[in-house]
Amino acid sequence: MEEEKKGKVWLVGAGPGDAGLFTLKGKAVLDQADVVVYDKLVGQGVLGMIPTAAELIFVGKVSGHHPVPQQEINQILLREALAGKRVVRLKGGDPFVFGRGGEELELLREHGISFEIVPGITSAVSVPAYNGIPVTHRDFVSSLHIITGHTKKKDEAEIDYEALVKLGGTFVFLMGISAMPKICQGLLNAGMEADMPAAVLERGTSAHQRRVVSDVSHLPEEAAKAGIQTPAIIVVGKVCALEKEFHWAEDRPLGGLKIALTRPQDRPSSLADKLSMLGAEILLMPTIETKEIADNQLLEEAIADIRRFDYVAFTSPVGVAGFFKKLREMKKDIRDLGNVQFAAIGSATKAAIEKMGILVDLMPSVYSGEALGQLLADRAALWGAKVGKKPEILIPRAKIGTDEVLRPLKEAEIRFTDIPVYDTVEVLEREQDAHGKLIDFASADVDYVAFTSASTVRGFVSSCGLTDLTGIKAVCIGEKTAEEAAKYGMELFVARAATIDSMVECFLGLEQA
Ligand code: SAH
Repeated sequence: MEEEKKGKVWLVGAGPGDAGLFTLKGKAVLDQADVVVYDKLVGQGVLGMIPTAAELIFVGKVSGHHPVPQQEINQILLREALAGKRVVRLKGGDPFVFGRGGEELELLREHGISFEIVPGITSAVSVPAYNGIPVTHRDFVSSLHIITGHTKKKDEAEIDYEALVKLGGTFVFLMGISAMPKICQGLLNAGMEADMPAAVLERGTSAHQRRVVSDVSHLPEEAAKAGIQTPAIIVVGKVCALEKEFHWAEDRPLGGLKIALTRPQDRPSSLADKLSMLGAEILLMPTIETKEIADNQLLEEAIADIRRFDYVAFTSPVGVAGFFKKLREMKKDIRDLGNVQFAAIGSATKAAIEKMGILVDLMPSVYSGEALGQLLADRAALWGAKVGKKPEILIPRAKIGTDEVLRPLKEAEIRFTDIPVYDTVEVLEREQDAHGKLIDFASADVDYVAFTSASTVRGFVSSCGLTDLTGIKAVCIGEKTAEEAAKYGMELFVARAATIDSMVECFLGLEQA
């Protein structure tokens, strides 16, 4: 019995920042977490993947405060595991590369808590790669050394520069920014050539990564001039010169752009995928969430009498999911739907319907509620005239759906039943933990915010923590969304057609401008 109550700890490497470099295993483990204990090096993209239900414990340094002492972190992990929880200890890079992962395991081991390690991509190798620097190269070096530049504590040994220079190879210093002059001088004193290429790489793998490439005798001065700050790594070795040839990250069509997306966390985002394929860094801000309407009598009645309807029109994939879930709950399947015709507002909704084994009969060429309403009104009227019946339309959709889709139907005096299937709620509380926001938008350095509906604008406004939104550059899917963003004085960019692809084009246009 005792045993059963014990939880488990997963020590997970979050990678260097770019959310795409988080491992599949790490993501799978995170999805199951009851508690996530994280620190400040974990990238925002990965933080955005933490499930809404998980409890958050921040143990990093907040400005003006000291970091939570290691002892205390160890105790937190133990306490949570003993409470029977699945604990994910999320750390930047790899947990065992200057990550004190070993120390965190000792106490768990003593108490017989089971654990797993999920390695991460370390910044020591990936940050150079994102800056076009291969850490090894057959023509130049035959070894790679990863060294901590953090030698503040008295009991820590000074770096043996003589030994390093004698060995040769590529040297990567982590936590070395404040000690940079000392490190470079140490290498020079030990006999390293003054013109040995050297680089400092700041915020590697993020949209706003910066690098200074110089040589070991000039690097500290050049880095100071550029105002390089932590987190950054120092690379010393001939491979640094290859950056000129191999730089690539900034050169992608959307490289250098950080874009916040306000799509609900529980829906897949093809926009996020497309933008990140083009090189943008995506910050997923799950500002709204959809919740199924409990005990939905109206929907049950409609489904029980589904053959009364001639059309079922969906305005979102969530509506489709809710409708078919209820159908199954009522022990019915598509054979019970008779000759009902299906309409979809756009391609994502169409795909969701087709997944259920039903081909879509109607879809407007423009993705908007109004276009769908108009198309339905026209077709239903024609169809009704042909078969000599007053057509009836079922519209299972969001509780706070706008009037747009209904207006053309009302005007054409077509009968419809508008049924709420899900509710859209703003996600507020989970953004907070004892130390503030999980993702602090104000300090996130976002270039653009993408809005795919008016409700995402409202969700963003109430969760971003800003009082003045006039500095926000808003890329909006359509006019309705833009109208909402305009209310807050945001700078507007509107996609030409109301589709995801058109939004992507809009971003590409911004970059070229
Ligand atoms: N376990 C981590 C390293 C932790 S030590 C890993 O494997 O990457 C913290 C140091 O890592 C920082 O001081 C900095 O030198 C380096 N670092 C981590 N992420 C970085 C990034 N995105 N860009 C540059 N340096 C980074």
